[in-house]
Amino acid sequence: MTSSVEEIAEIRDSVRKLCAKYGEDYWLELDRKGGFPTEFVSELTTSGFLTVLIPEEYGGSGLGVLEGAAVMEEICRSGAHAGACHAQMYVMGSVLRHGSEAQKRRYLPAIAAGELRLQTFGVTEPTTGTNTTSLKTTATRDGDDYLINGQKVWISRIEHSDLMVLLARTTPADQVAKKTQGLSAFLIDLREAVGNGLEIRPIESMINHHSCELFFDNLRIGADTLLGKEGEGFKVILDGMNAERILIASECVGDGRYFIDKAVSYANERVVFDRPIGMNQGVQFPIARSYTEVEAAALMVDKAARMFDAGEPCGAEANMAKMLASEASWKAGDVCMQTHGGFAFAKEYHIERKFRETRLYQIAPISTNLILSFVGEHVLGMPRSF
Ligand SMILES: Cc1cc2nc3c(=O)[nH]c(=O)nc-3n(C[C@H](O)[C@H](O)[C@H](O)COP(=O)(O)OP(=O)(O)OC[C@H]3O[C@@H](n4cnc5c(N)ncnc54)[C@H](O)[C@@H]3O)c2cc1C
Repeated sequence: MTSSVEEIAEIRDSVRKLCAKYGEDYWLELDRKGGFPTEFVSELTTSGFLTVLIPEEYGGSGLGVLEGAAVMEEICRSGAHAGACHAQMYVMGSVLRHGSEAQKRRYLPAIAAGELRLQTFGVTEPTTGTNTTSLKTTATRDGDDYLINGQKVWISRIEHSDLMVLLARTTPADQVAKKTQGLSAFLIDLREAVGNGLEIRPIESMINHHSCELFFDNLRIGADTLLGKEGEGFKVILDGMNAERILIASECVGDGRYFIDKAVSYANERVVFDRPIGMNQGVQFPIARSYTEVEAAALMVDKAARMFDAGEPCGAEANMAKMLASEASWKAGDVCMQTHGGFAFAKEYHIERKFRETRLYQIAPISTNLILSFVGEHVLGMPRSF
């Protein structure tokens, strides 16, 4: 059952209190040295916030995406970088909806207890990018096992995860009626895989997101790692995507509100030409406009989350929420930078870090063009554009 307004306010309040222990300097320091917020993620897990989506029978809180979205939004609004933890929430959806009872019993209670980390999903490949169904990584049946060969790119948090959901092709694309067929999803134990057919190379990148390249060379995994049915892995991944889009959108709302808070307070306190800069319409109006856009996006996130939790089809709403929120947070970041003038560039003001971080969400986990093509084709009924 969906939480009441008061219950969600309580969740928000508790997350805020937890985040307050990890101030912005904590995140700046991690950003500087490329560190991982191990203590933060572990406290978030043991406090139950990262496991809200796990049903109570498996040790979680049994709540919905609406509550998960509130958690992610508050994390981002506090100045934190949620990239270190968000995937644990939505990757779980694939196990919850498609895992066998044995897989759920084996993994979910341990994840809920913080003993196992499911932080990674491996979909993107260097040569096929957004065209997921063309991916080239293969899983070939070999007795009771599968052998994995191929390459992935931008796979985040893998060095800080025990498990990974991997998408690979089990039947060649020219032997299936539709390209979405013949792909399979696997739940791989990284503690056994790394160094035994799986090599990981970190990518130096614009934000502290712990993304890596993966190289599979005859990685042997048991057939019991299959999530759902062989050949139906695209559905396993797709099913988790609406939750992912909604949760990422809620992070953008959190980023947007963070930027607006910072911009308003600086506009009120910074005095130039003997008056607060916020007295100038040229400073005040962009902040007000940006606030309006973030709040509008928040409504779409709320709508998509409620539809998801009610079990209604929400592909359009989840995509639109993600697009609107990622654009609103980016604009809010730009306005916040402009309001701070030169000081926006000083790392100790934290804005430039958040500005870099929120930029990601117009590209990953799905880029804006792909959302527009989804809306154009599937919602508005125009011809497929590619
Ligand atoms: C920091 C970071 C973390 C990530 N983490 C993960 C992860 O954990 N796991 C994972 O699997 N992936 C991850 N990704 C990958 C991410 O999902 C992809 O980068 C994203 O989906 C875009 O794919 P691409 O980079 O291959 O872009 P491409 O597919 O090469 O596209 C490049 C540009 O062209 C546009 N474009 C392409 N085709 C069309 C078309 N037909 N019409 C209009 N425009 C088009 C796209 O919109 C995009 O702007 C991550 C990426 C980053 C940067």
